[in-house]
Amino acid sequence: MTLEYRNYIGGKWLDARSGRRFERENPATREITGSYPLSGPEDVQDAACAAAEAQRAWRRIPAPRRGEILFRAGEILVREKERFARDLTSEMGKVLKEARGDVQEAIDMTYYMAGEGRRMFGQTTPSELPDKFAMSVRAPVGVVGLITPWNFPMAIPSWKIMPALVTGNTVVFKPSQFAPKSSHNLIAALEEAGLPPGVINLVHGEGSSVGQAIIEHPSVALVSFTGSNAVGKQIAVRCAELGKPVSLEMGGKNAITILDDADIPLAIDGVVWSAFGTTGQRCTAASRVLVQSGVYDDVATRLVDRALKLRLGDGLEEATDVGPVVNPPALEKIASYIPVGHSEGAKLACGGERAHPTGLERGYFFQPTVFTGVMPSMRIAQEEIFGPVTALIRVESLDEAIEVNNGVMYGLSSSIYTRDVNRAFRAVEGLDTGLVYVNAGTIGAEVHLPFGGTRGTGNGHREAGIAALETFTEWKSVYVDYSGKLQKAQIDV
Ligand code: NAP
Ligand code: MG
Repeated sequence: MTLEYRNYIGGKWLDARSGRRFERENPATREITGSYPLSGPEDVQDAACAAAEAQRAWRRIPAPRRGEILFRAGEILVREKERFARDLTSEMGKVLKEARGDVQEAIDMTYYMAGEGRRMFGQTTPSELPDKFAMSVRAPVGVVGLITPWNFPMAIPSWKIMPALVTGNTVVFKPSQFAPKSSHNLIAALEEAGLPPGVINLVHGEGSSVGQAIIEHPSVALVSFTGSNAVGKQIAVRCAELGKPVSLEMGGKNAITILDDADIPLAIDGVVWSAFGTTGQRCTAASRVLVQSGVYDDVATRLVDRALKLRLGDGLEEATDVGPVVNPPALEKIASYIPVGHSEGAKLACGGERAHPTGLERGYFFQPTVFTGVMPSMRIAQEEIFGPVTALIRVESLDEAIEVNNGVMYGLSSSIYTRDVNRAFRAVEGLDTGLVYVNAGTIGAEVHLPFGGTRGTGNGHREAGIAALETFTEWKSVYVDYSGKLQKAQIDV
């Protein structure tokens, strides 16, 4: 029997008003993992009203008390980690080890933001006038609309929900229809932790209806979105028309640079993990490897050898290295890049085809794929493929590597392998991405540092760390004049 899940609006678990539903399947086995409300604008209307109503009381609850609720939610996530990880693997495919990491990231973020309830620092500063006190405090924005993708279905919602809540906002949240159970689990943990009704509202459904309605709703004061560039751009344009602040985290075309002096086995480990972890479906995936001439052939041989040994299968099996991709459109998109690479003159060194692991013939699997002889301007070196495909590009120098690294529309993550500290620091300075790793792959962000990218990856905001507070608060500058007379700033007496 299919498990039926509901929206969470005003503290109640509700069906869509239309009664319509959609099903999500396990991308490895094609079993149905659950049925969810196919909501519409009328459900968003209910959610936004509940959030607006709850706003009044929630913003007045002292931040340390709000933080305590988050802390309890963190404890529930710890208790349920294994179950939530299994649910996550079965609905979007990543291997269990990584699914546990996804849940752990939500735990880390929840605890981190719980602690922020007792910090949330503003500034106190001298006034230019006597008998006057000056300080700044953070104020909540109001009702915020959150829209998230499927590839980190616990972590990414937590990056948005936890800072939004601790700073006193209330939330209308639409998760991806390709990973709805993880969001259900996260919201159920917040409910159990004692979050008051209406503070968080979960509305399942499609981006084009539910997502759009959230953006349009007059009560929603701010939108925070993670997903593709195409959708992000559309949202940014609409938010500009509506005069709403919007924070965007979008795609990547990340590169690992391997210089001649690098520890090559270590670098190969980093490439395999960064290119094929989460089946290449990470915004920070290494879809380009820039290799200095002296080690290019060695790196190519070793990488292909490792890629061929990766075991595809159901992520719930401990022996599986690489799970399925998320859905048929993803499979199609990835496959479409193989002839593109061919026609541009790249060499397909391994992979390039749909895979059919025994017993999972109907699953959405794609072979780990390596292109060699790739030129920086080729489409496979410029466009986000979002699958287990990486492109080896030969470079002659560190300067050339930096130029190639920066020569794409995205700026999320980059990595360099070298044993030369001078070259490492030159790279840190020159790589134009929001994240830079030295002697590690392109993935491995920690929640207390800012996360996000430059250029086409974002619009100037960062998630995680203290940076997240900037998105979800307004600064309020407070002047207290205790002189008992009219004092005028900037006016000569
Ligand atoms: P997506 O197709 O852009 O969807 C993201 C979210 O937006 C989903 O919830 C989607 O709903 C919703 N949506 C779609 N159309 C919409 C519209 N017109 N109005 C409002 N909402 C709309 O992205 P995805 O396929 O889920 O995720 C993969 C992408 O996310 C990749 O490009 C990846 O690089 C990016 N990503 C970026 C980061 C980062 O931090 N920079 C992290 C992870 C992923 P439905 O799909 O449910 O209809
Ligand atoms: Mg999509």
